[in-house]
Amino acid sequence: SLNEARWNELPLTTGRKLAPLVGAAPGELAVADSTSVNLFKMLALALQLRPDRNVIVTEAGNFPSDLYIIDGLCGLLERPVEVRRAAPDQLAGALDERTAVLCLTHVDYRSGRMHDMTGLTAAAHEAGALALWDLAHSAGAMPVDLDGAGADLAVGCGYKFLNGGPGAPAFLFVAERWQEQGQQPLTGWLGHARPFDFSDGFEPAPGIARNLCGTPPVLSMAALDAALDLFGGLDLQALRRKSEALGALLFSLYDQELRDFGFELVSPREDARRGSQVSLSHPRGYEIVQALAEAGVVGDFRAPDILRFGLAPLYQRYEDLWDAVSAVKEIMREERWREPRFAERGIVT
Ligand SMILES: *Cc1c(COP(=O)(O)O)cnc(C)c1O
Repeated sequence: SLNEARWNELPLTTGRKLAPLVGAAPGELAVADSTSVNLFKMLALALQLRPDRNVIVTEAGNFPSDLYIIDGLCGLLERPVEVRRAAPDQLAGALDERTAVLCLTHVDYRSGRMHDMTGLTAAAHEAGALALWDLAHSAGAMPVDLDGAGADLAVGCGYKFLNGGPGAPAFLFVAERWQEQGQQPLTGWLGHARPFDFSDGFEPAPGIARNLCGTPPVLSMAALDAALDLFGGLDLQALRRKSEALGALLFSLYDQELRDFGFELVSPREDARRGSQVSLSHPRGYEIVQALAEAGVVGDFRAPDILRFGLAPLYQRYEDLWDAVSAVKEIMREERWREPRFAERGIVT
């Protein structure tokens, strides 16, 4: 079946399905590995494409795995590379003639705040740097236009808004202009031009395929591939409008129902500055999220005090938000979160 059902080609064929969701050309995207591994590959490629520069600019408070991967890669390099972690509103000012790459997550996992991808990519280019975007909280939730924004490289997650299921494979994007200019360092056999020649030396495959490493996880790929069929022919602008409307409803329900319980609003109210989530903070956030899960409303807790409510415009109903807010209100009014079992911490929060 690797031949007959074309299992071996899934990284590229599933990639072609995913490409239009993030504004990539069909040959600019591949599905493979995890987001963290792909970030390592793309960051190493970016540094290779800017050999005379020695600064990576990223955001203080970026998703921890992204920060850890940046540091891990820098620890391997022969040339010293400085990691500059700037505040979210100081990023453009942190770029200079030493910057090799601006490495950012488009939508912040805690607050849902969304960066101006076009503006920041242009600022990176003006400084002579590349722009690498992590689309973990954007892909499948809104239209993303990597090529329109002029992005150089990107990575993203298959198990969030793309619905690929637990641990689904991730994706990577390399703008066509860079594809033959460098080689990411995880040169496994499936990135080889002719893997089944079994030759001793690596020779990169043409195009995006040189960014693959090893054998694809076929069962997980098949699930992601099927999930992507749900997006076929979908108007992504309509998806975004639904997401914005869900957000607006959640804000007004918050104002109406939850004002008196000690929450603070963490997400920007302005649609243009927000991805597809609404986050609140509360000193007892952990316990509240656990009590909510028991009531059938599954959110996320993010340390130290954030309650994150994801808005999945593909299938969430307005009514679901009313039910969720009612459940929060009941838990707060009855102080049900005080039950000791809700304070027990699992490994995954
Ligand atoms: C979820 C997420 C990841 C996930 O990385 P994995 O390697 O797939 O575990 C990476 N980056 C961001 C910004 C995320 O939100």
